[in-house]
Amino acid sequence: MSWVKTLGLIGGMSWVSTAHYYRLINELVAGRLGGLHSAPILLASVDFAEIEALKLDGNWDAVAARLAGEARRLESAGADAIVLCTNTMHYVAAAIEDAVAIPFLHIADTTARAVAAAGLSRVGLLATAFTMEQSFYVSRFVAYGVEVVTPDADDRREVSRIIYEELCHNVVRDESRQFYREVIGRMAGVQGVILGCTEVELLIGADDVAIPVFPTTLLHAQAAVDFALE
Ligand code: GLU
Repeated sequence: MSWVKTLGLIGGMSWVSTAHYYRLINELVAGRLGGLHSAPILLASVDFAEIEALKLDGNWDAVAARLAGEARRLESAGADAIVLCTNTMHYVAAAIEDAVAIPFLHIADTTARAVAAAGLSRVGLLATAFTMEQSFYVSRFVAYGVEVVTPDADDRREVSRIIYEELCHNVVRDESRQFYREVIGRMAGVQGVILGCTEVELLIGADDVAIPVFPTTLLHAQAAVDFALE
């Protein structure tokens, strides 16, 4: 079906969540179109170790240049939109957007729209320490009338450690799920919780938590499929 648009995914951060994106996008397309339909996808999957080393050096200009280059490659290969498959790397979203003429589907805007549509105004955030502590992500929710609450410093450190030392290696532990549930319980007055790291929904989901959860990978995949089929 030539009218279905081609999604350009920038993945590998980590490969575990990119595999989840690939499955979700295809399941959503198959569910909507039926039969043997699957999603036209171009994937630029980077070596996460290389990107992470630049990040730890604080060399964000190099990260931005690297990911913008991947976006340009996807655009010239025929992608109709860019989907950056990680929340944290949205720190350089502006550089990627500037590098291409095709739309960039921002994960925080997608999530903020879902939170606002659910009628919630104060939600918790579980993400990497960087995403929880810098303003680039949380500030995006202000325009949607949503206040974002983050865990305390000790909890942020452990939430982030579980992401990089377990989930990015495809390790899913019951103890970590229980810890995440406890952290959610410690965030005062939140009406819902954003799973603001693309691996986190492999650990915890709606069945584990009493309040609504907003899984960013699923929401981003849904937005991508909406775009592809519109
Ligand atoms: N996938 C994670 C996220 O959504 C973390 C990996 C990264 O540092 O990009 O933030």
